[in-house]
Amino acid sequence: MVVLGLPFVTIRGESALRFDVRTLRLHAFGAAVWIDDLFVVLAASLFVAFAFLLATLLFGRLWCGWGCPQTALLDLTGRLRRAAAKGGWRLAAAHAGFAAASALVSANLLWYFVPPAEFFRGVAAFSLGPVVGGSWFVLGAVLYLDLAGWRHGFCATTCPYAKLQGALLDRHSMVIAYDARRSEDCISCRACVRVCPVGIDIRDGLQAACTSCGECIDACAPIMAKLGRRPRLVAYFFGEAGTSSRPLRAGVLALAVLTAGSLALTVAVAADRSALEVTVTASADFAPRRTPAGEVWNGFTLALENRGREPLDVKLALRPPEGDVLLRPDRVALAPGEHRRVRVLAVARGLGNTTGTIPGELSVEAPGVSTTRIVSLVSPAPGRPRVSSPSPWKLRGEGEEARRTSEGDETRRTLEPAP
Ligand code: SF4
Ligand code: SF4
Repeated sequence: MVVLGLPFVTIRGESALRFDVRTLRLHAFGAAVWIDDLFVVLAASLFVAFAFLLATLLFGRLWCGWGCPQTALLDLTGRLRRAAAKGGWRLAAAHAGFAAASALVSANLLWYFVPPAEFFRGVAAFSLGPVVGGSWFVLGAVLYLDLAGWRHGFCATTCPYAKLQGALLDRHSMVIAYDARRSEDCISCRACVRVCPVGIDIRDGLQAACTSCGECIDACAPIMAKLGRRPRLVAYFFGEAGTSSRPLRAGVLALAVLTAGSLALTVAVAADRSALEVTVTASADFAPRRTPAGEVWNGFTLALENRGREPLDVKLALRPPEGDVLLRPDRVALAPGEHRRVRVLAVARGLGNTTGTIPGELSVEAPGVSTTRIVSLVSPAPGRPRVSSPSPWKLRGEGEEARRTSEGDETRRTLEPAP
């Protein structure tokens, strides 16, 4: 139910968990992760993978029995399978049920990529489109074949995780097993065999096809109780029945370290993410120049991206080692999620006769965000302010419209590069 309902839960106006294909953004419980921030997801995936391996080494195929969606779907459609086995109208009704369940579950999977409201609008208007509509059809068809026919055969023959069991488990991992020391308690009623969905006999020992569903435990327990014999003839054991458990072993310790390390890495990279992404480059179409009044003009292009869910009022300032710099513009308003390229004119004063490249610290600040970038101001030699071609940047005088592309303009305090 959680998996089915999660796409309908919204946090701060967005799905609780959804990868938005159009914007290539992952919405995860109130946070938005951009595609180029996916190293956070990569680190989190490492953590999940190591934690999964650790849990498997300790607790065996607990995932198969209790966490796997395939197992959950097979349990939920068990009644349909039994109805189908009776034939007649029940067979047709059961297959209609399998088809409905397949359509619902495959749509549920798509809701983690397409907002459910948008999906339903598309269904109502028959306008889902070839990608979403086609994916729904293919996923639904595969799921129908799985639920109506393949069922536990998938777990026993195809599931890659099941195939990995031999490599992941050791002789101390938790397994469902038959206590062979008490074979005299077994009355060979075969109840455990009849209920086994993959058709194996747990009394023959641990087998790769076993999905740890626990059905054989539930089948045997009441028989032992009825006969007044000790429980746990078929039960969960760490390793073989009768052996002592050894939770702290080399493999467990190594995986515990890797799990803790990848968790720390995930937290560190997530904490290092900034709500404001800033890239600054010198504008190729604005040659640095020196005015007769001794000012040095440089042009920069800022690529700003608001990765948060609130608008940002971004303030810009540039500090050279000496003198001061006026920036135009020195404020930029960014809507949530907006990416904008801004051309910024830097007018430096008080540099004296310093020439060449002068490093300056560009500070970019918004509420809750503060970052800096080192930029290079280029100061041409005095007397050589000329540029061979006019700049396409239009400079705006106070109270006037854009009027010229000049050097030495005294209206510097209101100069703005055209967008
Ligand atoms: S259900 Fe229990 S008693 Fe019956 S065959 Fe299986 S292990 Fe033996
Ligand atoms: S042997 Fe028992 S736990 Fe394993 S699949 Fe069969 S019924 Fe489930």
